[in-house]
Amino acid sequence: MQTDLVAALDIGGTKIAGALVDDRGRILVRTQRATPAREDGETVMRAVEEVLAELTASPLWSRARAVGIGSAGPVDASAGTVSPVNVPGWRGFPLVARVRAVTGGLPVELIGDGAAITAAEHWQGAARGHDNALCMVVSTGVGGGLVLNGRLHPGPTGNAGHIGHISVDLDGDPCPCGARGCVERIASGPNIARRALEGGWRPGPGEDASAAAVAAAARAGDPVALASFERAAQALAAGIAATATLVEVDLAVVGGGVAKAGDVLFAPLRTALKDYATLSFVQRLTVAPAQMGTDAGLVGAAAAALTRRSDVTAV
Ligand SMILES: [Zn+2]
Repeated sequence: MQTDLVAALDIGGTKIAGALVDDRGRILVRTQRATPAREDGETVMRAVEEVLAELTASPLWSRARAVGIGSAGPVDASAGTVSPVNVPGWRGFPLVARVRAVTGGLPVELIGDGAAITAAEHWQGAARGHDNALCMVVSTGVGGGLVLNGRLHPGPTGNAGHIGHISVDLDGDPCPCGARGCVERIASGPNIARRALEGGWRPGPGEDASAAAVAAAARAGDPVALASFERAAQALAAGIAATATLVEVDLAVVGGGVAKAGDVLFAPLRTALKDYATLSFVQRLTVAPAQMGTDAGLVGAAAAALTRRSDVTAV
């Protein structure tokens, strides 16, 4: 018997990816468009529709039973709308209704991209087998999601676990979100580079002032570069420890471009966690690198659609 499939969409500020995915998370068909992020909302939607048109043209489409969408946030899963910070043409955009309209009325499940990556790591990656985990993406921004009691916990609007905008520095720098001293304001790639530049570090000839360049300098022993990563690690550790203390996660998975720094990030992160995760019930908290790579958003969106289907079937 041929198994049912789900369609998955991963919508970000630079690309819109689509796939048909089976119940074991295998991607059978995939397609992609650049996100026309600076264009009006209808132009962005046309790119989504082009991705969906390639999926619906596949001979496998007849087996698709649901659509899962992981989108850059904020999203509002209860309203079916998205307002991605990096896509100004979409504010309260009715993405769920629009996708349903071009996919023959299939059920559509919407979650934020942090929740999608968390679903993927829990299903197939570093959080597999963990009933309570925090998964994070540290790159241009800092996002995340939660697994609680063995299930993804997206929250009512799909944004739960958004650790990047927890404040860890009460009087810290203003954050674009409106608060101060957010984890993202200290630990994101651009902020790691900014802090290193302020301390006098300079990229090599022909090199960008990126977190990757700071990581290379840190590996070579540059004290300013090392200090910038230590500060980022401290902010991440404080946010992770706060999360663990609130909801008793025992694992924090860290992915994204900044996590590619490897031990330059993870060594000070593990040290800093000992300073902040101090109570008996959080002392066993561990940190692990993400395993899912660039398909995490698609696989997680598929997981959300499959989970919803099994919930509906189970009722
Ligand atoms: Zn913030």
